[in-house]
Amino acid sequence: MARKFFVGGNWKCNGTTEEVKKIVATLNDAQVPPQEVVEVVVSPPFVFLPLVKSTLRPDFHVAAQNCWVKKGGAFTGEVSAEMLVNLGIPWVILGHSERRQLMGESNEFVGDKTAYALSKGLKVIACVGETLEQREAGSTMDVVAAQTKAIAERISNWADVVIAYEPVWAIGTGKVATPAQAQEVHCELRKWLHANTSPEVAATTRIIYGGSVNGGNCKELAAQPDVDGFLVGGASLKPEFIDIIKSAV
Ligand code: PGA
Repeated sequence: MARKFFVGGNWKCNGTTEEVKKIVATLNDAQVPPQEVVEVVVSPPFVFLPLVKSTLRPDFHVAAQNCWVKKGGAFTGEVSAEMLVNLGIPWVILGHSERRQLMGESNEFVGDKTAYALSKGLKVIACVGETLEQREAGSTMDVVAAQTKAIAERISNWADVVIAYEPVWAIGTGKVATPAQAQEVHCELRKWLHANTSPEVAATTRIIYGGSVNGGNCKELAAQPDVDGFLVGGASLKPEFIDIIKSAV
């Protein structure tokens, strides 16, 4: 079965109510390939989730940018998987490099979060990726494999997981990975899944690329055989996000 192209928009910590309404209006007016061809998921900050969920076209879906690692309770400032389910939010992004780096989220913590979110019925966009230092030291695949292993050890069903390969050096820097660099890691990651999960998981799990994707570079990246879509930051706040969705065909 072919892997359906997936385009995620990670709005990060951006936007006012007015700006969010504008972005939603632009998305709602856009002519894009049907949802049988491309799955589109946008991820606003927590506070805008209900607004986006209730106004966004029904063929696009919504993701939170994080959730707590277990059942809610006395965890000031956190948002639980149960709350997202209660709001009807189907997706959550976990292990984004900004959280790994700025909040110190470890591989194990991200693995635990992924397992818990899946157990509550959420679908997960799980992010992995190396720093520039790690790439220059030749350890890209070791880093990405260790991040993926911490997830693989804790889950058995990959049907609701999308892996986002996001090299840290490419995020928000304008320094996009070349199509060959992206393809190389995606292909290695798929081989890793083949060896460490199952041939079926390797063949069906979508591996999307993130890091300075824009309307100009998306087509060439999308043409790579193991690039199954994108996780888009900066450009997901702009009308060019539509062009990125269209790179599915
Ligand atoms: P960017 O961010 O597209 O702004 O580089 C991607 C991401 O962090 O998901």
